[in-house]
Order: sequence, then C-alpha cells, then structure tokens
Amino acid sequence: PSVDWPIRSPLRVRTQTTPDRVAVRDPEQDVRLTYRDLAEAVARTADALSAHSTAWDDTPHDRPRVGYLSSPTASFVTTLYALWELGWTAVGLHTDLTDGELARNAELAELDTLVVGENHDAPAENLPCPTVGMSSVVESSPETDPGNPQPRWGPDETALVLFTSGTTGQPKGVRLTFRNLLASATASAFRLGVDPDDRWLCCLPVSHMGGLAPAVRTVYYGTTLVVQRKFGATEAARCLATEGITGVSLVPTQLKRLLGTDWTPPETLDTVLLGGAPATDDLLDRASDANVPVYPTYGMTETASQIATARPETVRQHRGSVGQPLQGTTVTVLASGEPVEPGTDGELVVDGPTVTPGYLDDAQTADAFGEYGFYTGDLGYRDRDGRLWVVGRVDEVINTGGELVSPAEVADVLSAQPRVADAAVVGVDDEEWGQRVVAVVVPADGADLDAESLREACREDLARHKVPKEIIFRESIPRTGSGTVERGAVRERFSD
Ligand code: ATP
Ligand code: MG
Repeated sequence: PSVDWPIRSPLRVRTQTTPDRVAVRDPEQDVRLTYRDLAEAVARTADALSAHSTAWDDTPHDRPRVGYLSSPTASFVTTLYALWELGWTAVGLHTDLTDGELARNAELAELDTLVVGENHDAPAENLPCPTVGMSSVVESSPETDPGNPQPRWGPDETALVLFTSGTTGQPKGVRLTFRNLLASATASAFRLGVDPDDRWLCCLPVSHMGGLAPAVRTVYYGTTLVVQRKFGATEAARCLATEGITGVSLVPTQLKRLLGTDWTPPETLDTVLLGGAPATDDLLDRASDANVPVYPTYGMTETASQIATARPETVRQHRGSVGQPLQGTTVTVLASGEPVEPGTDGELVVDGPTVTPGYLDDAQTADAFGEYGFYTGDLGYRDRDGRLWVVGRVDEVINTGGELVSPAEVADVLSAQPRVADAAVVGVDDEEWGQRVVAVVVPADGADLDAESLREACREDLARHKVPKEIIFRESIPRTGSGTVERGAVRERFSD
C-alpha cells in the first residue's frame, strides 16, 4: 500500500537548518548564493513567475507545467526551486534542440509556458505556449510580500518531466516525483558518501538527468553546487582546481577530453561519477593510471539517474562493471521472460522507489512495465555478488548467422587500438548472414589507418563472428548529448 505523506519543499527544510552555507557558486559571473540568499531569490522569482501570467487557472493539468531552456547557471537553480515553491511541474528542454524539436516536446508536455535562460534564444515560431525570459523573473524586485504559502506536494505527483536522449527513437517524456528524487539522493549518498563541505561541479546539460541530479542532491545535502555553463576540457580542468571541487558527474566523452589535456585530478577531487553511456576499458584504464577517482555508474532518466554504481577501488578488479544496484533498487536479469543465473545475458529490469511512475504517453508506459518492474531495454548480466555489467541495448544486438554480437564489445576493442579516436559498430542487413558486423572508425588526428590491420587486431581479442566484416573511416560519429551512439543516424549517414 502506498503511504501518503505531504512533501515539504527540500529548499525550505534546508534553509531552516543551514542558511549560511553556500548553495550555488557560479565562478564565471562571480556569484555565490548562501541557502538564505537562494531562498530569497526563489521567493522573489516565484512571485514574478506567478504574476507573469494569469492563465494558470486555465491549465488542463493539476499543476501548471513550465518548461525551462537553460545551461547550468545560478538563475536556473533559482528558477527550478521557484517552480517547485509554486507547486508547479518543471519540464526540462535541451538547449541544442531545433525549433521543430522544441515545439514537439513542448506540445507533448502540454506546456503552459517556457522560461528561456540567459544566452538562449526563444524559439522563433510554432511554439504552442508563451515564453518568458529567465533573467526578467529572477532579477525582478518584489512587488508583493515575498512569502508564498507552503506548497503542497504529494509524494507521487509529477515534480519534473525530463526527456530521454532519443538513442532508440523519438525522446520520451519521463515523469518524476519527489519520491523518486528523494530516493535517488538518499541512495546516492549511501553509495558515494556525503560531506557537508562537498562542492559538486555541474557541467552537464540540466535537461538531462545526469546534469539535473546534482542540483537536486545538493539541496537535500546542504552542500555547494558549482555551475559551469558549457563544458570545455581546459575550462573544466581549471574550475576543478581553482574551485576546490570534490565531485563531478561526467559522460565518457568529457572524461576522455579531460585526459586528452594531460590532466591530473586536483587533490580535493574524490568522486568522478562516470555514466550516461558505456565507458571503454581503455578509458577506465587511462583514468586509473592518472589516479582519477572514477565511480562507473549505470543510470537513466526513468530511474532519476543511478541504478548501480561501482566504487573506484573495484574498477581494475571488476573491469567494466557498473557495480551493485543502489540501496532500495532491485535489478532482475530476464531472458525469455524468466530470471537467469549469474553470468548469463538478459534484459535488465529495474524496480524500486527511484523508478518513474510512467511516461507522458500512457501507451509508452504500458509497454515499459511488466511483472518484474521497469523493462530498461538494456542488455547485461551480473556476477554472484550482484555486480552488474551493461552489454548494450536489447534491440541493438547483432544477429549474424545465428550468433549474437554486442556492438559495444566490438567497438571497445576497436577504440583500444592505437590511433583510433572513436569507433561505433552496427548490424547491416546481409543476404547471406541476416546481418553483418560493420564498424565506423574515426582515426586520431587524421592518422592513415588500414582496415585489414584493424581487423587483424580484432581477431586477437574477438571470436571470428564478432570481427567486423567491413570497416569504414569517417571524421566523426553521430552521438547524443550523453555520448551514446545514434545508431539509426550511423546507419542512415553511412548507408552508401
Ligand atoms: P532513449 O530512451 O530515448 O532511447 P536513452 O536511453 O539514451 O534514450 P537516457 O535516459 O539519457 O536516454 O540514457 C539512459 C541509457 O544510457 C541507458 O538505458 C543505457 O542504455 C545507457 N547507459 C547509461 N549508463 C551506462 C553505462 N554505464 N554503460 C552502458 N550504458 C549506459
Ligand atoms: Mg532509454
């Protein structure tokens, strides 16, 4: 039975307990907000937002739905908590979307309005709702007494909507509740540990779970969030050092770029949460060699971020593992609908308090849930101690002459070869084999690579049927914001 208890705004609880601690730091604009400052800015912003439109009464939802289009900034954090102060649902939209994609997501989420962050343009046309500038609401002066009534949130009401990355098709709108967010913050603290002096760097898009989760966790913990608008390896390395950062969430592409600058992690840094896409063994080895405290994690939008997270001590010993599921989360590995033994591949099915109540679209929700919980569409296995390995996606597995091949495993071997900057592997229809394994390889710095020697190198590490039948060289591989390969785009772009 679900227990119904009212949720207090995380920010209100925090402001009462540690008002003088620094909540948000933006080095670029030299901004430093204590929890008291943040609460005041949030109250003013909430006032300005509610004054902005009188149409809220007409919203077809229980709560108005307000989109945000923003980089990680202090104003963004203020706006997010202002929406929750008002009891409204925040809807994340990615800043790289085209106007058409924005309009589609705004329509799907039935937005009542869209708040547009500093340095972003409001979409030119076709948006089904009005827009308002983030700076105009955040910098407003109070007209009425700030001090809105305490918002009432049930634990299972939709506090947040985020869209998936769209690796497997059109992005899906995921509903997340305060129960999900609090469960995720709590379980993350159990695995990573929390110190009151923690300073977490947020340099991922806040429309993605990986970028947003730190902004939520930090307020529950009373720690400091340092925001960086745009990730660049040199700027991030500088910020990590000068801001005394203790933790950062990165996708593999970002870590690779950091290591490419001969970066050595500053002494303060004790947690690099690495996830969002598979990390190659090569990257993990290089990170270990450079003494980067990597916590490999497996997570997704639908589970409010982490499902399983490994600790740095075990990275070398259990190569490629994403560790055990977090406290409160269960993962079942299913093949043909039945749980399998350790060591056997199957679909990863997740259950627990971090799992979304569903998508915006009910039909998508019905497809994704079943007897064992939420069906992730990811393929993986576990060992006897419950450690997980993610092998790829169920529908990406290549079937070549009846043998199953994981594209990620082959791409991993290719990526580890000298002078290979990036690699992706897809299955292409084949008359003889059903599908054949084809690789796209990006040579490092224009290196002149030879397909036959690469295939030869693959033969050392891979069974014959896994060795790519063809290798083609290109300058780049289409990837989503979180670094996963857009396989559809790869097939389309390189179909010739
Ligand atoms: P869509 O659901 O629209 O196809 P998506 O699944 O890429 O897009 P996200 O929720 O951003 O959208 O990403 C979650 C997915 O990323 C996981 O389901 C998994 O496939 C992949 N992923 C995340 N972390 C890891 C990891 N450590 N190793 C391998 N894959 C990972
Ligand atoms: Mg997904």
